[in-house]
Amino acid sequence: MADNVFKDALIRVRDYGKSAGVSDEVIDSLMHANSILKAALPVRMDDGSTRYFTGYRCRYNSTLGPTKGGVRFHPGVNMAEVQALALWMTIKCAVVGLPFGGGKGGVVVDPKALSPMELERLSRAYMRAMADVIGPHTDIPAPDVYTNARIMGWMMDEYEAIKRTKSPAVITGKPVRLGGSLGRDDATGRGAYLCITELAKRQKLDPGKTTVAVQGFGNGGYHVARLLQDAGYRIVAISDSKGGIYSPEGFDVASIYEEKQRSRRVRAVYCEQSVCEIVEHETISNEDLLRLDVDFLIPAALEGVITEENVAAIRAPYVVEVANGPIMSGADSTLENNGVVVVPDVLANAGGVTVSYFEWVQNLQGFKWPLEEVHARLQAIMVTAFGEIWDLATEQKLSMRNAAYVLAIQRIGEAVEAHGTRDYFGN
Ligand code: GLU
Repeated sequence: MADNVFKDALIRVRDYGKSAGVSDEVIDSLMHANSILKAALPVRMDDGSTRYFTGYRCRYNSTLGPTKGGVRFHPGVNMAEVQALALWMTIKCAVVGLPFGGGKGGVVVDPKALSPMELERLSRAYMRAMADVIGPHTDIPAPDVYTNARIMGWMMDEYEAIKRTKSPAVITGKPVRLGGSLGRDDATGRGAYLCITELAKRQKLDPGKTTVAVQGFGNGGYHVARLLQDAGYRIVAISDSKGGIYSPEGFDVASIYEEKQRSRRVRAVYCEQSVCEIVEHETISNEDLLRLDVDFLIPAALEGVITEENVAAIRAPYVVEVANGPIMSGADSTLENNGVVVVPDVLANAGGVTVSYFEWVQNLQGFKWPLEEVHARLQAIMVTAFGEIWDLATEQKLSMRNAAYVLAIQRIGEAVEAHGTRDYFGN
């Protein structure tokens, strides 16, 4: 699967590009990464030995602005995955109208096997290797799977040491005290929550009668589950990389999160102060979770979990992609034929990069926006993007993913044409 993920991503650009009505030159420009840097990252381990990790940074397309996208620390990282993720960032930034192109980075590593100091040295080694291609007006990293604010702080610090200047806008998702934006921590989950709220309005869903299963309990999965529960939705299943829990009665998301911080496991508990008790539940696998009879299925872990092989088993009428790329293109037509509404990753998880954009703007201008302002601006962008995609999908009988790609490719296309194409120069 991993090798195919980039090829799979290109299939959608080609197919959906057709309905965007742009020239072949525009589609061609989206079929290649601008540049990819692969580097060996030497890290002094705590025992004194040196280990070499493989790191990547891909600047996929910078037509609309400096490239933007996270850095992933995961054993499964590879060149094809980094390119796919960077392509999705290109589409995503265009979907929500940000002045950014798309990029992505990653390191092949199991970060859970490193000590905190080894993790710091790895983060600094990554920035040392990539500093020539990174910069506040060229390429701006951010957190992704298994990276966080602390790691962004180390990377910023390393960049500033190399350039011998202060440069907070070089990276987003930093600790607030180092120039991070308020509201960046839960922005991905909040963006997805706003999409679900917009969808629920249009479909006249009653939150109290609506059940939700969330696959993955990282930053995106946790916050979307928390916000949905606060709004009255019933979260009946949650999982992490080790497996999941299910109860038709629903879970208290905050208690499960606290327990996960303590024991590193997703366990069905309800806590009052520091006293927790086990809640009745079933244990389920990540594969079982996808098959649950729920209203909303939220894949919020990794790419490629819904494929041609297992798509027929999906029973949820709504799937919201909080992860990047959880549905392979081969599964799209079955979902469409079965009437499943998919809110695609390039819209559903765009809240993260949107607040990253706010962080970059604040850093460049030396401003510090209050949380309410961040929330209001995020809401305005997400509600507009959702509405544009929904309306186009309804008018032209397209899937929401197709509509999102059409809007993004048209926007990129207008910029490509403004630079000049064969038609533009005429002959
Ligand atoms: N890694 C996140 C994503 O996939 C955030 C990127 C960013 O904030 O630049 O959208």
